[in-house]
Amino acid sequence: MRHIAYIALGANLQEPLRQLQQALQHLAEHAAITVLACSSFYRSAPVGPQDQDDFINAACRISTELAPDALLAQLQRIESAHGRQRLRHWGPRSLDLDLLFYDDLVLHDTQLTLPHPRIAERAFVLYPLHDLLGDAPLPDGRVWAQLWPGVAGQRIERLHTSD
Ligand code: ADP
Ligand code: MG
Repeated sequence: MRHIAYIALGANLQEPLRQLQQALQHLAEHAAITVLACSSFYRSAPVGPQDQDDFINAACRISTELAPDALLAQLQRIESAHGRQRLRHWGPRSLDLDLLFYDDLVLHDTQLTLPHPRIAERAFVLYPLHDLLGDAPLPDGRVWAQLWPGVAGQRIERLHTSD
């Protein structure tokens, strides 16, 4: 059985754009994951501590045979492979991979909450997600007109990359 999932990617250390491109490559190389679409790349203001660099963000839509917990474990393996160390909450990181949606599954586990609980608070999640969904509602039914006001004023810009 194939499932559709949305993944948010973010990084603000060690050539963040390259970190994101390599993470997408890793996802694409996984036998049980197909990357169906990828958003533009964005530059965004950090959340939390401000004494850190801007983040680069993107999102992708995948199809996968992996169960949600196995997919999360795979995302965490890719984070680790990129040298991610959990130094401080919301601090700088070389790579952050968040599972936004897994079909229309609602889950409240110790390790995994679905949909991701902070989607609506973050311009750097909503902008890439909008690239993937257009004006269609989110997989959980939320609509854009109710989401945009919540992130108004957050600094974010689309990057013009050639690759
Ligand atoms: P954040 O992404 O909020 O900055 P982390 O990447 O350090 O924080 O993630 C902290 C924990 O969040 C992980 O150990 C993971 O188990 C948990 N988590 C819960 N739901 C999700 C989700 N939907 N996607 C990714 N991680 C999640
Ligand atoms: Mg995370």
